[in-house]
Formats: sequence, C-alpha cells, structure tokens
Amino acid sequence: MKSFPSLTIAAITYTFVPAYAEHTSTAAQATFVYLNRNGQTVGTGDGHQAGTLPAYGGSEDEWHQIVACVRDRYANFNVDVLTRRPPAAVKVHYATVIVGGWASDVGLSNRDYNGIAPYHKGRIVLDGTALVFSKVGPHGEHDIENVCSAIVHESAHMIGGLDHELKCGDVMGYATNKCGAREFVDEDAPCGETVKRRCGNGQMTQNSYRLLGSKVGFRSGY
Ligand SMILES: [Zn+2]
Repeated sequence: MKSFPSLTIAAITYTFVPAYAEHTSTAAQATFVYLNRNGQTVGTGDGHQAGTLPAYGGSEDEWHQIVACVRDRYANFNVDVLTRRPPAAVKVHYATVIVGGWASDVGLSNRDYNGIAPYHKGRIVLDGTALVFSKVGPHGEHDIENVCSAIVHESAHMIGGLDHELKCGDVMGYATNKCGAREFVDEDAPCGETVKRRCGNGQMTQNSYRLLGSKVGFRSGY
C-alpha cells in the first residue's frame, strides 16, 4: 500500500469541486470522507434512533493510528480522508463518519452493531452520515484495527454504494479479523452477511476493490 500524501483543509478550499461527480471523467477529483471524533447529537437516521454520541475516548496517539489506517485502506483510491470538517463556505460534498460511543446511544444493540451507514443499493449517497460505535467490542476504542475497519466499511457503503460481501478478509464482510487486516480485496465474491444472496445492485457477485474504484476513481498508478 502506498503511503498517503499529506492533505490540508486549505488544499480543498482552493479545489472547490463538487466531489462524487458520478465518477466518470473525474479521476482528478477526490471523494472526501470526514472523520468526526468530537461527539455529536444525531437525529433519527437510516436504521437508528436519535441520540448523542460522545467524543472518541481513546488517546491522541490511538486516534492518529486510526486515521493513518483508514488512509492506508483508501490509499489506492481517489479518496481524501479529512479530520476537520470542510468549512461551510467550501461548496464540497463529503461523507461524514462520526466515531464514538455505543450502539445503544442510538437505540441499537451493542452486541450486533459496530457501526451503521446509509446504504442505497449500489448508489452513491451524497453527504451521508455514518456512525461508528468505537466503544463496542472487546478492546473498544483501543482496537485500532477494528475501529479503522468499521470506519472504512461504513464509509464505503456511502461513497461507493458497496454491499456486504462473503469474503473473509474483505472490509465489506461481516467476518472480523480472522483473515488478517480487512481490506478491499480484488476478487469476485458473493454478497451477503451470513448466507449468499444477490448483491444490492443486482449483480451476482461483488469485487469491492474494482467496484469502489469504478465509483471514486483510482489514484494514478493503480
Ligand atoms: Zn455494513
């Protein structure tokens, strides 16, 4: 994986592009994913109740490791991961992932949910907000790999319209880390959570790596 080129908010201020321009001739335009660790009250969303998520409670160093991990998973794609919200004056679309708290903060089971995102069956969700419940899991907010994978998984539902995949080691799968770090695997696999089913976009299989690349573009060299 390539290391992530440094990016500042100032850079996108000058860019001033509508991201997600439906991924045709837009290889130069980045898709933005904003990671919000400051805590936020959310309204009723796709599949969850209203509630307040507290700020991410891990250390500063752990947070930086999580951000670096998310950037690494997206390194081959034209995706910029931001840690500060783009200023309102910047007319740019971005997906938000709020990282903090428990699933039960928004009425969901802590046993079943590590995160939740709007998923519109293969379509890109503009300006969507996903939630990642960083306290969930045996190691909670200190589990860099798990929090990172949950962020990548939930954001990919929004920016790529990706479905769940029955592929161990794929970040869109439900299997945890028993096949190592969860990434976008460049292989066709059936869709599903625990049993095989047709993918949300009507296809019989999904290749998360190729599908995401077709939506957001690959960085040059990939
Ligand atoms: Zn999911």
